[in-house]
Amino acid sequence: MKKSLDLSHQEFKSFLEQVNQLVLGQYAELHQQKGFHDHAPKTVASWFDEPLPEDPMDLQALLTEVQNKVFAPATGNMGPNMYAYVMAGGNQMGTVAEFLAATINQNNTKWHLAPSMTEIEKRVVQWIGKAIGYSDTAAGVMVSGGSGANLTGLNVARNVFLAEQNMAQSGLFGLNPITVYGSTETHNSVEKSLVVLGIGTDNYRKIPTSVDFKIRLDLLEQAIQKDLEAGFSPFCIIGNAGTVNTGAIDDLEALAQLAKKYRMWFHVDGAYGGVAAALESVKPHYNGLEKADSVALDFHKWLYQPYEIGCTLVKDWGQLKRTFFQKADYLDTALQDTSERLEINEHYFQLSRNAKAFKVWMSIKAYGFGAIKAMIQKDIDLTRYLAQQVRLADDYELVATDVLGVACFRYSPQDMDDDKITALNQQLIPALETDGRVFITGTKLHGVFVLRACIINHRKQQSDIDYLLEVIRELGSKMITHG
Ligand SMILES: *Cc1c(COP(=O)(O)O)cnc(C)c1O
Repeated sequence: MKKSLDLSHQEFKSFLEQVNQLVLGQYAELHQQKGFHDHAPKTVASWFDEPLPEDPMDLQALLTEVQNKVFAPATGNMGPNMYAYVMAGGNQMGTVAEFLAATINQNNTKWHLAPSMTEIEKRVVQWIGKAIGYSDTAAGVMVSGGSGANLTGLNVARNVFLAEQNMAQSGLFGLNPITVYGSTETHNSVEKSLVVLGIGTDNYRKIPTSVDFKIRLDLLEQAIQKDLEAGFSPFCIIGNAGTVNTGAIDDLEALAQLAKKYRMWFHVDGAYGGVAAALESVKPHYNGLEKADSVALDFHKWLYQPYEIGCTLVKDWGQLKRTFFQKADYLDTALQDTSERLEINEHYFQLSRNAKAFKVWMSIKAYGFGAIKAMIQKDIDLTRYLAQQVRLADDYELVATDVLGVACFRYSPQDMDDDKITALNQQLIPALETDGRVFITGTKLHGVFVLRACIINHRKQQSDIDYLLEVIRELGSKMITHG
């Protein structure tokens, strides 16, 4: 019987060396990583079809299995050929930080369980709050991602808004329905959040956007007034700081003013574009962000962190505590004066949690925030380049782009009618997936199907953008010739 699960010092050392080889091998091939590997679901399932292993496996064989079944077919998030959804490529410091953090296995929940990690999390919240022009005294918690950040922000909003009605004790039962407002371009994690929070999607007003995909302020105010007249309690306005479809940034200043006028909570979904507010070049578009009551951020997007990490910022720690604090005898730290200890478990839903902020802290220190901002700017510049190439080409058509890193376009050879172009672009998506050289997905803008390229990867260069257009053109023209 072994004394523990640990390897001997020598065994662990040699195992780590083999792991290093695997990691370095991955980086050596990154520039040519395919966007997607088109294996049938049954095939992938078959690789893992085995009974629960009772006995140990040879470690070298295990790493070979990891290489063949997990690394080699991995979707190309890290490499330069990924344009689908909003997938950033991670970064080396973040990756190493995950390993280091797991090495000391801190439970980042109560201060005395993870003193340094707690202070690091607080510091990262302050850094980012200040960098994006929100507040350098903001409170915040690291969460799973943008969905978690929206849920957490709306959770605080609901609890603070309904504090006097005893909502935390009696629930929403018997209360006037509270209503939420966001544009039709708002991310669907808001709907998920409203279901979780018991507010319900019937109480969500999706306000149409103008041609530039920003919320129509006149229609928003009309909807609020109509709800007031009908006896609802308008409670929260959601602004987009970068929509997922086109990167549109709502008029946050105007939304803040409306929220103030009607005494509502103002939540900003900055999951995609929030961090870019730190860039001088686009900062003016974010006017009003500083007035938000809560902001959702996603660091596995434009902070290039490995999955997963998001962040909810609010104006003060008291709001988080009022939302999440619950007493438990076994968690009371009666040992010492705890007034200067931040107890994250009292400010968030989770009890046990990993040290999410550590990878952000390490990457910002290692690269410098200036270098990270320069990479975000490069993504934005490459997007302008893509838009320009699409505009100049005879067989492409630019449909929408804004000031951030998304461009929506169609492959539209001349002499083809609109229905055929739509059908062709829809068929291009599965064809590109099968081909796998680049990975791009589509969306609908005001009802029209388009290809959507998201550029959010510090490893991308101009030649990669040219390659994307070449590959689509090659497959598209083939599909035309073959009918
Ligand atoms: C990505 C995104 C989300 C969801 O974030 P996840 O990290 O995928 O949960 C929410 N809102 C916007 C605007 C996003 O771009």
